[in-house]
Formats: sequence, structure tokens, C-alpha cells
Amino acid sequence: MTDNERLAELLFPHITKTPADYEEMYPLRNLSEGAKVTRFAPSPTGYMHIGNMFSCLIDRLAAATPDSVFYLRIEDTDKKREVHDAIDKIIEGLSAFGIAPTEGITGKETEKGAYGPYKQSHRKDIYQCFAKDLVLKGYAYPCFCTEEELSSLRENQEKEGANPGYYGKYAACRNLTADEQEEKIKAGIPYTVRLRSDGDENKKIIVEDQIKGKIEMPENVQDLVLLKTDGIPTYHFAHAVDDHLMRTTHVVRGDEWISSLPLHIQLFKLLGYKPPKFAHISPIMKLDDGNKRKLSKRKDPEASVSFYVEQGFPADGVIEYLMTLANSNFEDWRKANPTADKYSFPFSFKKMSSSGALFDILKLNDICKNVISLMSAQEVYDNTVSWAKEFDSELYELFTADPSYAKTILNIDRETPKPRKDIISWSDVKGYVSYFYDSLYNNEASLPENINAEDAKAVIDAYKNVFAETDDKDTWFGKIKELCEPLGFTPNVKEYKKNPEAFKGHVGDVSTVIRVAVTGRTNTPDLHAILASLGKERVFARLDEFKSKI
Ligand code: GLU
Repeated sequence: MTDNERLAELLFPHITKTPADYEEMYPLRNLSEGAKVTRFAPSPTGYMHIGNMFSCLIDRLAAATPDSVFYLRIEDTDKKREVHDAIDKIIEGLSAFGIAPTEGITGKETEKGAYGPYKQSHRKDIYQCFAKDLVLKGYAYPCFCTEEELSSLRENQEKEGANPGYYGKYAACRNLTADEQEEKIKAGIPYTVRLRSDGDENKKIIVEDQIKGKIEMPENVQDLVLLKTDGIPTYHFAHAVDDHLMRTTHVVRGDEWISSLPLHIQLFKLLGYKPPKFAHISPIMKLDDGNKRKLSKRKDPEASVSFYVEQGFPADGVIEYLMTLANSNFEDWRKANPTADKYSFPFSFKKMSSSGALFDILKLNDICKNVISLMSAQEVYDNTVSWAKEFDSELYELFTADPSYAKTILNIDRETPKPRKDIISWSDVKGYVSYFYDSLYNNEASLPENINAEDAKAVIDAYKNVFAETDDKDTWFGKIKELCEPLGFTPNVKEYKKNPEAFKGHVGDVSTVIRVAVTGRTNTPDLHAILASLGKERVFARLDEFKSKI
């Protein structure tokens, strides 16, 4: 037995499989030309940043061909930060936004696919097998340094002005003899397993990043930790093992990982595997007092995915907005293909911003308005009800008590060539429909300045005389016009414009009086449809009430 073989057995007596066994268990995937394997790999910390969702969307967009794979892996190696229902929340969130992966974790205890387990906490033996292999090859060793020893190393390096870290002559456990290692292991001293770096800081790694282009960095020289004292891997080691065994072709992740790229490239090399392609995404930025900065979990509510859920932004609107951040030509594509499936958009890594897309809530609002304006009344109703069920019980009760009334209201000026764009999010719906429900209605409006109270009262009285609930739109409008002249208004707007002094106002002012009296607003969808939905009793009550207030 060589020293390395002896050490590997001492460290990992329970590991009997070899990397070759796993190679066989997880064969190369059968992919056609151009197919990609991507993954979303969140940590279950209970908080989903919009940046995570953005990166998940990129995974989804990149895996576009039918035999491409987009899987979900849960990176739960940090048990201290784990939140108990985070996995369910991640899955619910992804499916609510329509970007649920097709392979991997499907629930707290469930998964599908032939490359699992997809939860890192269930892969301990796999990581240890590969760590054992590195020990056998002399590329890894146990480190018995305590926290105190490591912090005094840091202090000494600071004093000396040396680069911090565990490397070269500072790597105290790198050169322990086989006997020293054995003695310490047998004495039960806790240890981590570190990489024995073969890097040379004068040499460079070169990576052709899918988004950032050519990245050149000095090789890694640090003996970084691969397995922590509890035998659980660090992110770096798990990444190399998992993305190899799960046959990931493209690793899409935040660019905070670029600094670790030399280590990752080195790990793939020492393990004997070809690294995947990398696509490092820049963080989403925001303009703050004219300066660009990262969206911050602490300062910006819109950094959290839960913000969009709570505000009731339509899932499709949020995703379409993120697509404009991903590839700015998405907007033109959307204009040219208004009804096409968004996933048929020809996404390109190369068109992504390498410096960070700028978040613009006004543009998000515009896109959401547009998305909602194109929905049917049934869709708006269903989405509003499911949002309200969780976030607005009053609206939920009103809508579910009389679904057909709610849908009639929502259908006003909808499914027309130029639908109105009043609703940005489901939380706007209550305000939008409030005058249709007596319990929400509170008319505090006053008359526009150009109409005096006496004239308005006369309009109200005259209108009550001609009101008939069954009038169609043309008959109704004919009646409004007929009201004009006897009251000193003109039915003809052009005529009014030519000679405004001759009239109290025009037909638009007459309908404004009715509109304001019945809805409390000067701008509403089609007034005839509103009056028809409200019905005679409610219309009259409101006209009377308004009249008594002015
Ligand atoms: N669990 C890592 C994170 O949440 C994933 C990074 C990656 O995608 O590789 O940052």
C-alpha cells in the first residue's frame, strides 16, 4: 500500500465505490446537436432574490430545444442557513412564474430524473468518493488546523504583508508525514479535506464565458477546503462533482463566482473531467440618485420575488419584463410576434449585458399593463381571485359572491382591438372596480370646474327622466345628446369649439356629470356599460346622493 492509499482508507473506510462506478451510473446524456443541460441550483434559505429568478429564467431560455434539460438541484450543504419550507416555496414560486424545471427536485422529499439524488445533502457518499479519489492521487489531504490556528495565520500574513490564505509554506498540514496524519486521525482530531493545489500564479486559466467573453485569471494556488469537518463539501467541490455527474453543459450563475473560477477549472482538471461552459450573469442594477448600484435585499423591496407575488404582478408580465433585461431585442420581437409563446424567442447569451441590466419598475408596469390588457375577463377574474384569496379577503368575498357580475365588469372595454390598460397588478383591481360595489364606493369627487352645480343638477334630473335600463349603447347616447339643447349644452363638440360662449358646455360635459355622479371619476371605461351593469336602482341612488352634495 502506498502512503496515499493508506491515507485514503483511513479517511474514507466506508467509501467502496470509485468514480468509475458513478461514471457508469450517470452516463453521458443522449443529446442532439445544440441541446443544452442547464440547472437552477438555489440554496434553501427561504429568500428568493429577483436575481435568482432571472438566472433561473436564463437556464430555462437556454435549454430551448425539445431534448434540452433544465433541472433543479437543491444546494443544502449549509444547514445553519436552511429554512424548513424553503424548498416548497422555491417550487411553488417557479411554477407560479411558469419556469418550473423538468427534472430534479419536485417537492420537499420528491424528485424525478436519472441523475439524482438532486439534493446535495443526499450526496455525501458521492462527494466523499471523489474526495477519496483526489487523496489517492495526491491532490487532497486532511488539515487539522483549528479556527484559532487559521486566524493567527491570517494575522501573521497581514503583518508580513503576504497574501492571505492557506497555501505553499503557510499550509501547515500540507506536508505532514503519513505517520503524523495517521496519528492525528486515530486520535480523533477533527479535520477538513483540502485540495493540494498544483496551481502556478504565474500561469493563467482562460475561460470563454458565454456572456462575458474571454476571462483570463491567474491559476489558483490556494489549498482550499473541499470537505468541511463534518464531511460535507464546500460549494466549489460540490459544483465540480455535481455538474460533471449530472452532465450539465452550461452553468449559468451569478458573476460573484468568477473569482472562484480558477479553483473550479483546477478541480475539473484534477478530477479528470471536461469543465462545462460557463455563463456568468451580472447582477441586476438600479439607478439610485443617478448612480448605478446592485438591487439590494436590504434597501429595495423589488429585490425580493415575494414583492411581485404580494403586489400581484401578473407572472407573465414579470417574466416578459425579465426577458427584456436578458436580451434587449426581446421587445422588438414581442412587437412583431404579439401572441407567440415567449419561449420561442431566439434567446442568446451573447446579447446579455456583461455589465448588469438596469431594473426599471416603470417599464415593468408598462409590460404588466399590456399583458393584463390582453387577457380575457375570465383570466383577469381567475388571477384576481387567486391573488385576493391570499392577500385581500374583502375583494375575494365580493368577487366570489357573484362571479358573473365581476366578470361583466372586467369585460367592459376588454377583448377589443384597443383594450384599456388600467390594471398593472391584481392589487389594482379593487381600486379599478370599487365603484361597482356599494361597500367599496365612496364618492368624494367634485364637479369639473367648467360645470356649475345648478347645471349639473338639471342634467341629473333630466337624465333620470329618460333613463331606461334596457337601452343599447346607441339609444343611450342618442338620449344624452337630446338632453343637451334644452339644458343649454350642445350635442356638437365642433360647434362648441367654434363658439364656446354660446353654450354651457357640450355633450361630453353632460356625460361627465353623469359619470362623476355615478362613479366618482372623470375617466372610466365605457359609461353606458357601467350604467347597465350597475342597474337603475343603484344609478338613481347615486345620482340623488351626488345631487344632494353639490
Ligand atoms: N447555490 C448557489 C447559490 O445559490 C448556486 C450557484 C450556482 O448556480 O452554481 O449561489
